[in-house]
Amino acid sequence: MRKKIVAGNWKMNTVVPQGETLAKEIVGLSGEVPSDVTLIVAPPFTHLSRVAEALKGSRVALSAQNCADKESGAYTGEVSAKMLASVPVEYVILGHSERREYYGETNAKLVEKIKLALAENLSVIYCVGEKLEEREKGEHFNVIASQVKEVLFNLTAEQMSKVVIAYEPVWAIGTGKTATSAQAQEVHEFIRKTVAEKFGKDAADQTSILYGGSCKPGNARELFACKDIDGGLIGGASLVAGDFIAIAKSF
Ligand code: PEP
Repeated sequence: MRKKIVAGNWKMNTVVPQGETLAKEIVGLSGEVPSDVTLIVAPPFTHLSRVAEALKGSRVALSAQNCADKESGAYTGEVSAKMLASVPVEYVILGHSERREYYGETNAKLVEKIKLALAENLSVIYCVGEKLEEREKGEHFNVIASQVKEVLFNLTAEQMSKVVIAYEPVWAIGTGKTATSAQAQEVHEFIRKTVAEKFGKDAADQTSILYGGSCKPGNARELFACKDIDGGLIGGASLVAGDFIAIAKSF
């Protein structure tokens, strides 16, 4: 059985004490969520150690939002996968569309990042998704196939077993526009089939594929009911503990 996951991407929001409070609120409410749902929070780098303390002994796992594409050394301002593992952090989000779009992250760079993260035994939440103009031109399947093939097809089966995929249509992120459950399911099924081409059906069936893009308590149930949707990567709604937990209760 693949994992059900709800992960909160806090992006560049909250200062450290607020992040600590939010983490504690989520821990406080986490008992309401069925035990087969993995809960993850991804605060900014500055918050990781303090949030790790707040999560200690709880069921809520810690993720970072990015890591460097280099192992160590003279890369001012970067944070390595080894540093994250030493916090300790369990997951890292890589390939988010905001990183691809604003910080020039290419598929090639993401291969390096993912390999470094996996080498430190971190699990990776790898994001894929098309822009609005790509969907309008009917190119979304090609875009997603490249994002999967050019990156994940460079991994071994063992490495792939530590990867969660998040499908996040760029036009749905932070816009209030959610993909319909049919649109999301169609792409999730496509991603799973693409993963199966390289890693086989069993491995593809074990891969959790999350939906992201304006997912909230009001639409999570319909999305999570789809056969190939194994949970959500949540942006805005993950900043309110009650909303985040309500989403996680929507399976
Ligand atoms: C995200 O950026 O990962 C995301 C899904 O954001 P939002 O939920 O705010 O659309």
